[in-house]
Amino acid sequence: MQFKDEIVLVTGSARGIGREIATAFAKEGAIAIISDINAESCQKTAQELIDQGLKADFAACDVTKLSAVDEMANKLLDKYGRIDILVNNAGITKDNLFLRMREEEWDAVITVNLKGTFNCCKAVSKSMLKARKGKIISIASVIGILGNIGQANYAASKAGIIGLTKSLAREFASRNITVNAIAPGYIKTDMTDQLKEEARQKILQAIPLQRMGLPEDVAGVCLFLASKQADYITGQTIKVDGGMAI
Ligand code: NAP
Repeated sequence: MQFKDEIVLVTGSARGIGREIATAFAKEGAIAIISDINAESCQKTAQELIDQGLKADFAACDVTKLSAVDEMANKLLDKYGRIDILVNNAGITKDNLFLRMREEEWDAVITVNLKGTFNCCKAVSKSMLKARKGKIISIASVIGILGNIGQANYAASKAGIIGLTKSLAREFASRNITVNAIAPGYIKTDMTDQLKEEARQKILQAIPLQRMGLPEDVAGVCLFLASKQADYITGQTIKVDGGMAI
């Protein structure tokens, strides 16, 4: 029980990787706060964790709106007195070749993935700075390191998260707050289930470990980065990609 009664806020955690991360923390004794844009799905996921005998709560929030994120953080701080760990996981894709990419597609992806991460760091870091303690982990992507055809918006948003992570790591280090990112490769979730078979085979050929990752693969590294064992690690981006971006 390495996170007993710690308050862990995971954005975009009603499903997919976020849900797996929240569950993994709850299995280690944390109170997992399920946050997502849809209130019903947040509540449903939190209840499913509680039904498994785990500790969970929910807080619906659209990460693109700073006022809504502030309100959520304040409610949690009133209720629990602190947020020990923040996992910025909410993210979307809107793929298109650059010449065809519409301004709305660019804006939507940058706003959810990058501005959403900014908003959550802004709302939660104030209390961490006061407490002189905290762990912030953001889910980037290997696409933010490698780039990808048809994903200029997504690659830019995830590269932005990596830069934000390095800057906040420097700014918050003196207050004992570590800030790190995880760059998953291709992980089996609803997001990647949309891939066509031909694209899936091509991707598999580029992965030395010859399989897609699982949400558990990402959750394990998230737990490590939030643990005492990682107290001396900050500003890093850990690739969880089966060797794709060696
Ligand atoms: P997912 O299954 O699509 O889950 C993303 C969650 O974020 C959904 O529950 C979604 O809610 C929520 N969300 C979307 N917009 C939001 C907003 N404005 N505010 C709050 N929540 C919002 O995605 P995933 O595959 O688990 O990915 C999770 C993270 O890992 C993302 O940041 C993604 O970029 C990153 N990642 C994924 C992979 C992969 O292979 N799957 C690889 C690298 C990185 P709705 O469903 O209601 O829209």
